[in-house]
Amino acid sequence: MIPYGKQNILQEDIEAVIQALTSDFLTQGPRVKQFENAISKKVGAHYAVATNSATSSLHLACLALGLCEGQILWTSPNTFVASANCARYCGAEVDFVDINPHTYNLCPIKLEEKLKISRKNKTLPSILVAVHLAGQSCNMKAIHALSCEYGFKIIEDASHAIGGRYKGEYIGGGQFSDITVFSFHPVKIITCAEGGMALTNQVKLAETMTHLRSHGISYAREDLLNLSEGAWYYEQNALGMNYRMTELQAALGMSQLTRLDSFVKRRKALAKRYHEKLLSLPVILPTLLNECDPSWHLYVIQLKDPGSRRRIFDALRAQQIGVHVHYIPVHTQPYYRQLGFDWGDFVNAENYYHAALSLPLFFDMTNKQQDKVISVLSELLFEKTGEKTA
Ligand SMILES: *Cc1c(COP(=O)(O)O)cnc(C)c1O
Repeated sequence: MIPYGKQNILQEDIEAVIQALTSDFLTQGPRVKQFENAISKKVGAHYAVATNSATSSLHLACLALGLCEGQILWTSPNTFVASANCARYCGAEVDFVDINPHTYNLCPIKLEEKLKISRKNKTLPSILVAVHLAGQSCNMKAIHALSCEYGFKIIEDASHAIGGRYKGEYIGGGQFSDITVFSFHPVKIITCAEGGMALTNQVKLAETMTHLRSHGISYAREDLLNLSEGAWYYEQNALGMNYRMTELQAALGMSQLTRLDSFVKRRKALAKRYHEKLLSLPVILPTLLNECDPSWHLYVIQLKDPGSRRRIFDALRAQQIGVHVHYIPVHTQPYYRQLGFDWGDFVNAENYYHAALSLPLFFDMTNKQQDKVISVLSELLFEKTGEKTA
């Protein structure tokens, strides 16, 4: 099977994890801090808070930005469910802004239209989660300008996008947002097995996220100690969680991070090859914006005939080509339908979904494997529905 995504694990990764495993600390040791420092330095953010998943990081980000019951978070319907669920954990409402049909990212024009209406209805969002699909940045400049006018905070869900750039800068530097979140799930650009990180330039947000990551407990700090309490003393002053990353995860992440640039470089080369070799086929290829330099987490094509998607998907899978579909629009999930959303609410995301197909793309993919994907796909595209190949 040629998978749609796959981690790259070398002997040096294994050795880094073994070193952590045989060290004094399996959790709450020095490696998490080192990993946080290395990522914040790499992407140009002041602070980084490592967690056990991007989902946890999104939850912490919402809490740090004060999201609570009675407030609303907006995001793209074309994302993984976690980008929206983080609001529900805080008791807040979710709403969506439809995508631009070319970039597949949240559309700033639709955002502005919806903000104008919401100002009248008093349903303005407190937070917008901007998702950089496939690692291509949203139009952050436009979104940031609207945040200044309408007063919402911005979280970048950059789960796909570590190593990608926007306007020449690494995504995560926080020029146009309050907090950026990365995922280190194995299919993402670099992995910790499971893991996430929240980046920010605001010390208060970093402190709150660090505090809530570990139960909302503060340990024996000078200012907490009084005459009757000693160095054992700790205080829980907020309701936090255990969202901590382990030393093993951080060791793997540190080791992977040294190869981030080469991972992205290879993904970019594979994306370019797909682009050149698929140009003449009846498919829509990803639109690249000048100001974006994506990390290429995914290579998504759309079939010009969406009616053939099921047939082509099944036939590719049958030939051991692990295609996938990103994403089923979040508002159409039963959980969100039960909250009042339905098919027809965000038609750009729905039309995109019906035609979308993610082709295999991962660091170790060979040109030969890619050529097989391309040749099988083109055969299938020119095959008539109903006919069967031997
Ligand atoms: C993978 C992903 C997440 C969740 O990441 P985890 O680390 O698995 O929690 C969130 N948002 C998007 C867009 C993702 O692709």
